[in-house]
Amino acid sequence: MTVALGEYLDAVPDLVAERIAGARQALIVSHENPDADTLGAALGVARIIEYHGGRATTVCTDPVPPLYDFLPGIEAERTELDPATTYDLLVVVDCGTFDRVGEIGRRHAELFERMPRVIIDHHLSNSGSSTPAADWVDAGSAATCEMVVLLAARLGVPLDVADGGMAAALMAGIIMDTSTFAHSNVTPRTLQVAAALVEAGAPLADISRRLYRTKPDGQLRLFGRVLGRLQVADGGRVVWSSLLDSDLAATGTSPADSEGIIDLVAQAEDAEVAIIFKEVAGATRISVRTRPDGVDATVLTGAFGGGGHARAAGATIQQPLDAARTAVLAEARRLAAAVAR
Ligand code: 5GP
Ligand code: MN
Repeated sequence: MTVALGEYLDAVPDLVAERIAGARQALIVSHENPDADTLGAALGVARIIEYHGGRATTVCTDPVPPLYDFLPGIEAERTELDPATTYDLLVVVDCGTFDRVGEIGRRHAELFERMPRVIIDHHLSNSGSSTPAADWVDAGSAATCEMVVLLAARLGVPLDVADGGMAAALMAGIIMDTSTFAHSNVTPRTLQVAAALVEAGAPLADISRRLYRTKPDGQLRLFGRVLGRLQVADGGRVVWSSLLDSDLAATGTSPADSEGIIDLVAQAEDAEVAIIFKEVAGATRISVRTRPDGVDATVLTGAFGGGGHARAAGATIQQPLDAARTAVLAEARRLAAAVAR
């Protein structure tokens, strides 16, 4: 049996399909602090462009965390443009705002502004840019990788190209952003897209184990410290904990190892809002998760200059942890109190 995606292909804007198919030398940019969705989507778009006879460079401001070394094609990922190359298309994937591109976007602001571009994203908080026709923002998509699968199908790219490498990279993004098909963002389309990827050889179980069920010992100890100081307010409707620089030092871990703690904290039974506060060089990063049909996480993070999705969002606040915590908790408690159950 062949999984058919035909009924979904009208979702791909014509101009996006045209620009991707026509690119000869594309620059594909992922968001800072990359995850499997932004990296997988970039790799997917690169394979699509190559299938159509073009070349593609994938870049990210930050080095790829070792967790994602298994993504096929990730070894070609760069942290800077190739100075010898003249690019003809900028593709920005999984960035809710242009800022999310990070330092690389500021270093090349003039070039990035001038190049023809395509934006492929699924963040509710994405308000589009100055080139709306080539912006493809679908907040109903569970992952940017889900959209890239449709783009591949629309452009006639077999999903098993690159020895199944494209399918594996795109599956990783879908698994990442759905927590292996467990979140409320999963739709029938997500599952059909995933079925097509499995059919193309994507190792679903292996990727899920790597992303969600394998951790270095130090990371487990880090989680233990952070979970050990869990705090709750308002009968458990707001739940939070903090991750300090000293936790990283004590467990020999790096900031990337904090990935996933928020999803444990969000398991708190009565929580409408779960928050992790992370110390980062004098500022504070927050990760927020909220319960379905309750607080919109982008409303909370939006009040502090961040964004994301309705159930999962984040922000960086230019204040020390204590001050940021006081301000965010006041807003979180106010929003949680307004939820009627
Ligand atoms: P996490 O809590 O896993 O870091 O982020 C959850 C979601 O919110 C992700 O989809 C991420 O893209 C988005 N997000 C995290 N931090 C920020 C931020 O500072 N600004 C915006 N616009 N989105 C963010
Ligand atoms: Mn994503």
